[in-house]
Amino acid sequence: RVAARLRAAGVGPGDRVLTWSQNDPWLVTAYFAVWRLGAVIVPLDLRMQTDVAIRIGRRARASLLLAGPDVDREVAAELGVDILGVDESSLDPLAERDGPIPDFPTVTPDDLAEVIFTSGTTSDPKGVMLTHGQIIHTARAFGQTGMGKRPDRVLAAIPLSHMYGQTLPLLMGFMGGSMLVFLHALSPKAMTATMQRERVTAITLTPHPLANLLRGFETEARRQGREETLARGHAIARWLPRPLRRIVFRSVHAPLGGALEVISIGGALLPVTLQQAFEDFGFSIVQGYGTTEVAGVTGHKRTKQRAGTVGPPLAGIEVRIADDGELVARGPNVMLGYWRNPDATKEAFFDDGWLRTGDIGQIRDGLLFLSSRKRDMIIRGGENIYPLEIENRIDDHPDVEEVAVVGVDHRELGQEVKAIVVPKPGKTLDPQALNDFVAEKLAYYKVPTYIEIREESLPRNPTGKVLK
Ligand code: AMP
Repeated sequence: RVAARLRAAGVGPGDRVLTWSQNDPWLVTAYFAVWRLGAVIVPLDLRMQTDVAIRIGRRARASLLLAGPDVDREVAAELGVDILGVDESSLDPLAERDGPIPDFPTVTPDDLAEVIFTSGTTSDPKGVMLTHGQIIHTARAFGQTGMGKRPDRVLAAIPLSHMYGQTLPLLMGFMGGSMLVFLHALSPKAMTATMQRERVTAITLTPHPLANLLRGFETEARRQGREETLARGHAIARWLPRPLRRIVFRSVHAPLGGALEVISIGGALLPVTLQQAFEDFGFSIVQGYGTTEVAGVTGHKRTKQRAGTVGPPLAGIEVRIADDGELVARGPNVMLGYWRNPDATKEAFFDDGWLRTGDIGQIRDGLLFLSSRKRDMIIRGGENIYPLEIENRIDDHPDVEEVAVVGVDHRELGQEVKAIVVPKPGKTLDPQALNDFVAEKLAYYKVPTYIEIREESLPRNPTGKVLK
């Protein structure tokens, strides 16, 4: 019925339909209706800067905008297309309820399903073109890792405008019979209340809100003077089977509803310490790695997760490390190319069809270990330095809350290493002591020349990646 409604609004095969909405069951319905018509979803992200969203929206030359209640209609009007609300009264008018189901066009796996623009805060946004077959392959391949084996009650906390939000909780979840729960705002209070009410068994998250959750537990423990109990819990939990850990950390499980077992992480780097902390609590942390261009590259098996790795390649995906250390991928879910941008498309692929992911990584024992984004690599006096290694070392310091390592230009050395560090609330950090702490474990040329201590949090993009 919703597809019929959209068709009446003029949507036909190949047309682009913009969506700009928070997660909502009506947004899901709208996606499937657009796909049923052979039309193409172009999701705008509510967390994007408005001017970027408008620029992307115009570039897509869409025929319709589906706008959620949070979108300012005056701003949306700048897109210059017709607008329909993402809500029952706009998408499901009673008048059409009893009408015959019209004939819809045939849609094949090779038809374009979606153009997702990558953020574009610092560079020109590029529209990743994905077909039905490619998106479905990713959802199936994640399902085969065992993540979708059992129907879960999933809190889908990743926006559906992101590929991770669509493939994992939504499509894989539907294939496995899961129920999805959406939140309009990801405030910790709304999150815990919803998890308790719905007895949520699995949650999909980026690492950053997970880190906030941990900080919440630590702050609460401090407030109650139970800091040492928490530390002791972590020390013994590592030796205990999962069910017993859940008893040791009852106070962590209760506010999350008590039924949560699986935390599925992706979209940005998961610090090993963060993974370990939640493993100690008795949760199963499964991680997937992907880019918009190849929606899913690797994923943990539900029963086997090793900290520090993003898992083996998903079914059907081949990965290889190119000569310069860049991870390249090939397979049935690699994008067609960038929307109306043959130059960028050519640059993204090697001639033999392998896609450059832009990530530096290593493959060991069939598992993928990611280092840094290629563009974040620092070259100092001829040595290649991956910021992640230094960030991980600084992150090991108990008083560090957040850290980013960047290269700053230097006349003789090419680049110098600079670390920007945010201390945990109530803690102070001494740059010299931190420097010694790093130097203890890392080669001299990796030790930061500059350490800046900063009070406010690091700036991040919508998936929680630090805007270096
Ligand atoms: P996007 O296209 O916005 O989804 O960003 C993709 C990029 O996010 C990848 O190229 C990686 O750099 C990063 N990324 C995604 N998932 C992970 C993960 N599990 N661990 C580390 N980095 C990740």
